[in-house]
Amino acid sequence: MSGREMHALVERLYPLCRSITGEGVRRTLEIVTEYVPLETHEVPTGTQVLDWTVPQEWNIRDAYIADASGTRVVDFQESNLHVVGYSVPVAATMSLAELRGHLHTLPERPSWVPYRTSYYAPDWGFCLAQRALDRLPEGDYEVRIDSTLADGHLTYGEHVVPGQVTDEVLVSCHVCHPSLANDNLAGIAVAAFLARALAAARPYYTYRFLFAPGTIGSITWLARNAERVRRVKHGLVLACAGDAGPLTYKRSRRGDAEIDRVLRHVLRTSGREHGIVDFSPYGYDERQFCSPGFNLAVGSLTRTPYAGYPEYHTSADNPEFVKADSLADTLAACREAFSVLDRNRSYVNLSPYGEPQLGRRGLYDSLGGRSDAKQAQLAMLWVLNLSDGEHTLLDIAERADLAFDTVAAAADALRNAGLIKE
Ligand code: ZN
Repeated sequence: MSGREMHALVERLYPLCRSITGEGVRRTLEIVTEYVPLETHEVPTGTQVLDWTVPQEWNIRDAYIADASGTRVVDFQESNLHVVGYSVPVAATMSLAELRGHLHTLPERPSWVPYRTSYYAPDWGFCLAQRALDRLPEGDYEVRIDSTLADGHLTYGEHVVPGQVTDEVLVSCHVCHPSLANDNLAGIAVAAFLARALAAARPYYTYRFLFAPGTIGSITWLARNAERVRRVKHGLVLACAGDAGPLTYKRSRRGDAEIDRVLRHVLRTSGREHGIVDFSPYGYDERQFCSPGFNLAVGSLTRTPYAGYPEYHTSADNPEFVKADSLADTLAACREAFSVLDRNRSYVNLSPYGEPQLGRRGLYDSLGGRSDAKQAQLAMLWVLNLSDGEHTLLDIAERADLAFDTVAAAADALRNAGLIKE
């Protein structure tokens, strides 16, 4: 059910021309707000953020290349991928030979349009299918890009799901790609539905959702939240969340943070086909959250990883490339992981000299009819044995090779019987 709803959100956001600044990002955040209310932040051009500066705001209304008869042979109105992101305005007539230096194609995928940007160097260009370029006769072409680069703002959105404690889990996704579905929109859709689901579940941690343009957006957030960063205990960057490939978890820079162990446990015990890869300073905004000065415990969850599929950064990353079932599975994995994270505690055995008598306390009887009675009993013995204040329930689940839920249920029963305390 939610898979189809998330896919509908992907389709709705798909036509908007997003970039690292501008109206496309604002409109995207407005639409997300219909699902989960966002607090929108506007940071002025020129603001110093860590080693970067918020750039001028880019907006575009129209762009095309027209032949001598006035027919548009490349048209922004058909797909926003046709214009290099952050192109400066152009109004000129030039020969195809002159124009070629500004044209980008994918010769190895002749029917796909590539996605290109030029954020930090003033330039302009068009992207088109190699096949379309091959059809263009020599001659003069009218080239027009009706864009604006002007002082404005960088826009990002936040949503907070309050928890029982002020320690935070940061969930972030990038919102800076134009018509690219898996890389961008799938992560946005999963994040929005995850925020909604968590709000209904009254979580332990406070969950902060960040919808921000890649790189400059997360850098801006980090620069403006020096105090809050200390409260971020765990985090997850969501991207490429909807293709048909299996889930891939990329560890935080720390490599053995609690979030890393939680994701590994959930993916392994759920029986899902999956991959786990080590941190590298490449990919999405984990690069910023895991820069050495911050070194946050932030991992990244994708399906097929960053740049790992041929459709990546091309017109073939369209809504059909994103599957409702995959979106639903990514959402489910996040919920399972955060449910483990929220319940992971260490306890102290209050009766540590010899095993306490479980039967007398009704702890054997309660298991009688359960098909997993044997596992549940084993889990109680493990929790009692390792609850010395130094082992968390996740430590115990891993050591005992039991599912976290089984161990957590055992801990609940033992706590209710007064045998362990937090
Ligand atoms: Zn991308």
